[in-house]
Amino acid sequence: MSKKGEMTLTTKVVIGMVLGIVTGLLINTTGLNAPESFTHAYIVNGLFHVVGTMFITALKMLVVPLVLFSLISGVLGIGDIGQLGKVGAKAFTLYLLTTALAIAVGITIAVISGVGEGAHLTTTAAFTAKEAPPLSQVLIDIIPSNIIDAMAEGKMLQIIFFSILLGISILMTGEKAKPLVVGIEIMNEVMMHMVNIIMAVAPYAVFALIAKAISSLGLDLLVNLAGYVIVLILALMVHLYGTLTGLFKLFTGLNIRMLLRKLRDVQIFAFSTSSSNATIPVTLRTVTERLGVDNSVASFTVPFGATINMDGTAIMQGVATVFIANAYGVDLGLGGYLTVIMMSVLASIGTAGVPGVGLIMLSMVFTQVGLPVEGIGLILGVDRLLDMIRTAVNVSGDAVVSVIVGKSEKKFDPAVYNDPEAGVLTEEDIHIDEKVEEELAEAVEKVEKEGRI
Ligand code: ASP
Repeated sequence: MSKKGEMTLTTKVVIGMVLGIVTGLLINTTGLNAPESFTHAYIVNGLFHVVGTMFITALKMLVVPLVLFSLISGVLGIGDIGQLGKVGAKAFTLYLLTTALAIAVGITIAVISGVGEGAHLTTTAAFTAKEAPPLSQVLIDIIPSNIIDAMAEGKMLQIIFFSILLGISILMTGEKAKPLVVGIEIMNEVMMHMVNIIMAVAPYAVFALIAKAISSLGLDLLVNLAGYVIVLILALMVHLYGTLTGLFKLFTGLNIRMLLRKLRDVQIFAFSTSSSNATIPVTLRTVTERLGVDNSVASFTVPFGATINMDGTAIMQGVATVFIANAYGVDLGLGGYLTVIMMSVLASIGTAGVPGVGLIMLSMVFTQVGLPVEGIGLILGVDRLLDMIRTAVNVSGDAVVSVIVGKSEKKFDPAVYNDPEAGVLTEEDIHIDEKVEEELAEAVEKVEKEGRI
């Protein structure tokens, strides 16, 4: 509850999530979701699908302009361009470190549990491997040949590159560019309001997304693959509550309960959208307004992390590799596992955080260590749910690293971090002041008449 006694957005979103899970389970277990049924056609694939997809699309719509304006204003606000390089180097190193630790956790827990041993599983689900881009291409692809194309395609690394370059060029232009600087600052603020508007409908959208996902889940498959699912979820939790919070405490010394409490929104958004990229607006808002990291750091670390940092996905790759190796009776040996760690880290850099991309990365890892790619067909059926959970871990890693980097660069406000109510979204935040409305309308009229304000 907020100070004003009204329900906060987080509370509403949690309610939406719980109701979504209950509704989804009801539809699933009572067989209401049979292919020809009314529920299947009009509720699950009708109402839930439409509401959920509209919401994800709206979030995606925000990503490019939001990253663009916040990152340019971040570069303008950093005060010292040399610091930008330091922020980049720290974030990159920490992202690689957390991903490598994540996959090591995944492999270790999977090996100890012996998941998949004696499973003798067969699959009919065909899985064809998609190529993940080689590292050389990833490097080349950082530079956009056409920025409009990069924006249209949502190519995050290219947009980051262009925004930083534009920010630096504006700084070089100096005095003359001041109106532009003010304009960009204002646009950044405007975009944040747009995030608030879209977030206001989140409770309903989260309900629809989760109800749809759970009503279409193959629960019988879940039982068949219970070993894999349980070990994977366990490893994800160990990483989130052990490795990530441990690193966070070590580097920042800040209160962990506060972190976990404030991460809840981001995790639920990631869980229901299965996409780190679509969650960028929420992650950026949480990291800056709730966790107290300055926009000059967060506007870079958040979209960068959504693209290159995928701890949850790395864990899935570790567990899936051990599972399939055991199921097929292949002994990978230490060398094999080290290759898996290296390949997963590299694969995560070149692939964006969108739903299901983890499986593409996995096929790349399998090819490298000589595991049968068809084996991925075994886990395909349960991947929908696991994608939701691992995406929540992915975005948590982005937020954790953002705070660590922000604090070490002194671009961090402890007062915001320690205030449980900081940045909490309530109905109050999503309305237009009537007086402001009138004043702006008058200003527009005046400009139309006199050509000035
Ligand atoms: N859905 C994940 C993300 O967006 C990626 C994956 O594991 O498939 O972060």
